[in-house]
Amino acid sequence: MTRQLTDPEIGEITVRKNPRAKRITIRVSPRKGVTLTLPWLTSYKQGMETLLEQKGWILTTLERQRRKLREHPMPTKEEIERMRVLAKEILPPRLEELAREHSFQYNQVRIKNNVSNWGSCSRKGNINLNLNLVRLPEDLRDYVMLHELCHLKHPNHGPGFHSLLESVCPEHRKKEKELRKFRIF
Ligand SMILES: [Zn+2]
Repeated sequence: MTRQLTDPEIGEITVRKNPRAKRITIRVSPRKGVTLTLPWLTSYKQGMETLLEQKGWILTTLERQRRKLREHPMPTKEEIERMRVLAKEILPPRLEELAREHSFQYNQVRIKNNVSNWGSCSRKGNINLNLNLVRLPEDLRDYVMLHELCHLKHPNHGPGFHSLLESVCPEHRKKEKELRKFRIF
């Protein structure tokens, strides 16, 4: 069950009832706007009251996201297609090169367009790379690939993973920090 409400300052708010939700949650996304999720038995009125208590935080978050979006505008459909072509051309060969250099073996590599991560590694040894990686400086691109390659041996972010990553990419902490400036929307 979904309702669309409007607040003069916040704008559009999507209110959703979710039987599995245990508490009220508010999500602010530059793509989807503000989403309020309510447990089944919580009334819309109660949900909106909770949301309005958080108004200050919501407005600050929206403003920050909009500013980021202005600095790094969202690509158009045509730009995405161009990135995809470029990504398919340059990312798989580079991954192969890095894997060979550091003795990693992966199964397949796929180019994805999602907002949740720069890359991922499946239990089956497949590596997914985000096509937005082509927007990154080369060293950060390499860092993401090395990070995913290390997940072939350590699926988590435990100490084993970190010491392996340290050995193949000594500056990984610095890279991880720099990478955060380039959030994918
Ligand atoms: Zn990871």
